[in-house]
Amino acid sequence: CGIVAYVGAQDAAPILLDGLARLEYRGYDSAGLAVVGKGGLRVCKKKGRIAELAAAVPSRFRGTTGIGHTRWATHGEPNDENAHPHVSEAGRFAVVHNGIIENAGDLRAKLEADGVKLTSETDSEVLVHLIAAQSASGLSLEDSVRAALNQVVGTYGIAVVDGEQPGVVVVARNGSPVVLGIGEKEMFAASDVAAVVRYTRQIVHLDDGELAVVRAGGFSTFTLDARAVTKQPSTAEAAA
Ligand code: GLU
Repeated sequence: CGIVAYVGAQDAAPILLDGLARLEYRGYDSAGLAVVGKGGLRVCKKKGRIAELAAAVPSRFRGTTGIGHTRWATHGEPNDENAHPHVSEAGRFAVVHNGIIENAGDLRAKLEADGVKLTSETDSEVLVHLIAAQSASGLSLEDSVRAALNQVVGTYGIAVVDGEQPGVVVVARNGSPVVLGIGEKEMFAASDVAAVVRYTRQIVHLDDGELAVVRAGGFSTFTLDARAVTKQPSTAEAAA
């Protein structure tokens, strides 16, 4: 339902929680965060309100790169396991997803045949395992995301982090909105401008079939077949 991401020098969790709170009006049943810090990837996710998630986030949940999600369940009941982010088996990658993966049943069966243990009932979880499998075959994070998405039929807005690579978030969209927010030596991404206008009004709208590699100092945009695209920022209306 709602996605927020941050890469910069500030502690990510409070910014992600604030962004998620600005997406609450869209409705949701669960919420979660993943941050990448010195200790690698950390994840906290819960069924229920953002205030409950905020109360559950440990005080040592430090990291200046992160992703957050509010879920409106389509596949699998609202519970802690089905909440996003979903994490790869070795705990390295985390993914948040808006939309519906239509061939999740087939992809799940293939992953299980390869010995992957899925821990949720969602359609979304396949994404993180597909990315981890591509990465294990030697691809970069962005190429792993691309290769995973090329196996997927359905709609998505996604944000991905790698616990071994602080300082980068990969986002992509097909049928579910993703915007980038350009800050001063920090970058934001979200499913809705409302989550980021408090921090920046310089916005880039991704189009369907586009992927962005987002770092504190800037971003690069590509098509899913890896052609570079140049995107012009626009100025959003002032925050309400
Ligand atoms: N289909 C996914 C799920 O059920 C994502 C739902 C959403 O967009 O929040 O977990």
